[in-house]
Amino acid sequence: MSRHTKIVATLGPASSDPQVLERMIRAGVDVVRLNFSHGKPEDHVARATAVREAAARVGRPVGILADLQGPKIRVGRFADGKVTLEKGARFVLDANCTLGDVERAGLDYKDLPRDVRNGDVLLLDDGRIVLDVERVQGAEIFTVVRHGGELSNNKGINRQGGGLSAPALTAKDMDDIRTAASIGADYLAVSFPKSAADMYMAKQLISAAGGHALTIAKIERVEAVAALEEIIEASDGVMVARGDLAVEVGDAAVPALQKRMIRMARENNKLAITATQMMESMIVSPVPTRAEVSDVANAVLDGTDAVMLSAETAAGKYPVETIESMARICLEAEKSAEVTLDREFLDRIFTRIDQSIAMAAIWTAHHLKVKAIAALTESGSTALWMSRLNCGVPVYALTPLPAAQTKMCLYREVYPLLMKQTHTDRDLLLYDAEQLLIEAGVVEKGDLIVLTIGEPIGTPGGTNTLKIVRVGEHLPPAAGSLA
Ligand code: PEP
Repeated sequence: MSRHTKIVATLGPASSDPQVLERMIRAGVDVVRLNFSHGKPEDHVARATAVREAAARVGRPVGILADLQGPKIRVGRFADGKVTLEKGARFVLDANCTLGDVERAGLDYKDLPRDVRNGDVLLLDDGRIVLDVERVQGAEIFTVVRHGGELSNNKGINRQGGGLSAPALTAKDMDDIRTAASIGADYLAVSFPKSAADMYMAKQLISAAGGHALTIAKIERVEAVAALEEIIEASDGVMVARGDLAVEVGDAAVPALQKRMIRMARENNKLAITATQMMESMIVSPVPTRAEVSDVANAVLDGTDAVMLSAETAAGKYPVETIESMARICLEAEKSAEVTLDREFLDRIFTRIDQSIAMAAIWTAHHLKVKAIAALTESGSTALWMSRLNCGVPVYALTPLPAAQTKMCLYREVYPLLMKQTHTDRDLLLYDAEQLLIEAGVVEKGDLIVLTIGEPIGTPGGTNTLKIVRVGEHLPPAAGSLA
């Protein structure tokens, strides 16, 4: 329970076996990612069920993130499954081609020729292949291969500098949002959003489908970087989607953008996930490279809520070992993370009562050096506010609602626990909270803790009370009436 940074693991063939899934959860997975770029709706439904069953066996909450495919712009299929492009060769991207060869390839996104101009640079397969556009004629884009290599079916295409007009939410995404809602996904990741409007639309669609997922904007387009402020405002969190982002803005620009996105998300009370190639070598190796260790540690030091694994756990040889390594790196990096509350607090503005209580709780907890904060919460908002500032004290978010518990699995330094709400009396509930923390082994007699609660009990957003107690010093408020 002591790791602050959360781990998101993508599911796939390597993690389909229920026993592997269970071992992954025991190793430290906090959130699983269902990648809607692969598989059918029924596959995602089955995976979500398997995750919940494995989480119940382990006795640990696990959140579910549904990641939409978005308008991934791809080449079509090849007659032989793949071709090898030679440097200097001519190659045509043709919206009307059905089966490609070494001279031309089809396009999933038929409008690409309309978005491309002479002199543009197209990057295929995450930039491994580079094509210079010579001219565009009707449905055909004529190019010269600058960097060649093997190109297989359905690889992605990006235009250097962005500017592709494909809408963020495709018809498939809209169907997938309904599946995500039926699964009860905790988070919905929107691929390739360009503006706040894309995120507002996703929010509207998930809620119209009866879902409660928080929305995560994957920042992977040049336009999204330019509109970062408004996209963050319109979302519950961002994902630093370094794969496509690096292709669009240039790989060297990504590390500074990662720091900026995480800082902006935290300042605006939003979440941040750092994704892609974090432990890439562990797809085939049982140990990470030194550079990967540093990358994960640096994301932790940047203040990310979560670090994400993609192919490492979806298709790699060592899914469990990768999670163990990642957890170990996070824990070590967290030891050296500075507690910066006194500095960060100065710029905070808050006007809501519940937010003021959350701020007062972390300030008090930090200065009194308490063992834990217990936030009794229905919506999870108090725990989120507390976790946006680095106060060095763990926040135990106690909620009666399973959906609120799994939603908080992504919040940095927040440990969500289910607590039955068997009374409407404040003091009895606070006593129950204290007992729950003792049972969970996180506090013992004599420890100081800070508790927050709202009255009347059971009103989301109603936190209005802060209490500081020394564990074990009080008798049950009305002995005998406890459930
Ligand atoms: C990325 O591009 O870094 C990313 C996370 O998106 P996806 O894996 O869906 O391509």
